[in-house]
Amino acid sequence: MHEMSLMYEIIQLVSKDAISRGFRRVKQVQVIVGDLSNVLPDALEAAFFYFRKENLGLLDEYSQLEIVREKATTQCQTCLHEFEPDFRIALCPKCGLLNGLLISGETFRVESYEGCDVFEN
Ligand SMILES: [Zn+2]
Repeated sequence: MHEMSLMYEIIQLVSKDAISRGFRRVKQVQVIVGDLSNVLPDALEAAFFYFRKENLGLLDEYSQLEIVREKATTQCQTCLHEFEPDFRIALCPKCGLLNGLLISGETFRVESYEGCDVFEN
């Protein structure tokens, strides 16, 4: 389950940045998870809950994780048709050729986070 170490790194990075900006809490973290990114949203969420309980970094019991799913999109480089592939390599449903370029769905990144002071909610 590499989501555990991914989430650990995210919380460390976000907390470090938040501290450098003078925040004392991280209220919310938003991550983008592509359908073909090899990251399981459920496992990511479970990891977040675990670290939240441990008060890792600037997390506390009210910290929230928002996962934004990114759908996979492939564009056929022969006929330019765009479709949602089941896998990284997929036949174009329009022309039947195997000439697709994955243009979204592999993203895994922190989109934003919200920090605040201790007393604010
Ligand atoms: Zn095509």
